[in-house]
Amino acid sequence: MKKILLLVFLLSISLNYSQNRKEFFKSPTGLFLIASDLHIHSVFSDGRVWPSIRVEEARRDSLDLISLTEHIEYLSYRGDLNYDDRNRAFQIASGMIQDNETLMVINGSEITKPMPPGHINAVFIKDANKLNLYNKLNIEDGYKAVKEANNQGAFVFWNHPNWIENRDDGIARLDSIHNVLLDENLLHGIEVVNEQTYSEEALEIAISNNLTIMGTSDVHGLIDWDYPKENNMHRPITFIISKNRTKKSIRDALFDRKTFVWHRDMLVGKEENIEPIIQENFQIKSMGYYKKILTLRLINNSVVPFKLKYQGNYTFHHRGPVFEIPPKDHLDVTIKTLEILDEISMDFEIQNIIIAPKKFLAISKTLQL
Ligand SMILES: [Zn+2]
Ligand SMILES: [Zn+2]
Repeated sequence: MKKILLLVFLLSISLNYSQNRKEFFKSPTGLFLIASDLHIHSVFSDGRVWPSIRVEEARRDSLDLISLTEHIEYLSYRGDLNYDDRNRAFQIASGMIQDNETLMVINGSEITKPMPPGHINAVFIKDANKLNLYNKLNIEDGYKAVKEANNQGAFVFWNHPNWIENRDDGIARLDSIHNVLLDENLLHGIEVVNEQTYSEEALEIAISNNLTIMGTSDVHGLIDWDYPKENNMHRPITFIISKNRTKKSIRDALFDRKTFVWHRDMLVGKEENIEPIIQENFQIKSMGYYKKILTLRLINNSVVPFKLKYQGNYTFHHRGPVFEIPPKDHLDVTIKTLEILDEISMDFEIQNIIIAPKKFLAISKTLQL
């Protein structure tokens, strides 16, 4: 009897986790979109919450993957907490995860040096204590800590290269140490989105150096304070396009640069990553003709609005060429096709989906009528 009760209890926990999960996007067949935040803090460096709160927040936000990336060098509660084991935040957070739960936790750290090189995150590390061997605030220890993270098989990305405490003009730019790290393949990604900020210059650096595009919350307080849901806000999320829902596959996808980022009402990612996702989430259905006016239903299955600019030659009966389909919603448009067609191609630019600085995703849909 006790066993049955335990089973029912465990089942109800797992149902709770899965039932309330948000579907951000429809995934193309055979792929998983892993919703991640790989830059967060707890009291085990300078954050203001216990690691368990990070796990609860991630569950509420339907995330699949988090990493508590505590600063190696900045520890705010030395008098109150034992910081001897730098893996402690990871141990507490990962210890909360149920066997059948979707959320995963990986070990990580923020290597925190003055600029250059600035702050650098290492995730999928094996032992944060070994990074602490290189905790002096200089370039040399920055290089050595990054090297050690790489020796552990870590995925390493440059944090907030646009941070105004480091770059007073807010412009992300490479110093010579960054070029060394890039040349030696020790740096694999870059934050294009950090907290509330978006950096077109970081996006340019990502594209020209073939780095993985990252977006993170870098949260120190509570997620709901930084991103109040009543204001329709959400933390930045990096979606990792993975072949499987395993840590190995997710790590491979990060190294393969298979990501895109959701920040405010926009998506940022390389065209080859983001185009198949949008093809899957943007559908057009014919609602038929009245006289020679065709009605098309434009359907958005995603959590972002689609801010569309029509690129073709037809004109619309009720609208101009620019309109928006709200998230998880649809919009009917009427088109003057001049004659009754049996096939139509519709070309759009989506102006809140960014594939390079000042460049928007173009999408083409052909349908039989
Ligand atoms: Zn930082
Ligand atoms: Zn940070």
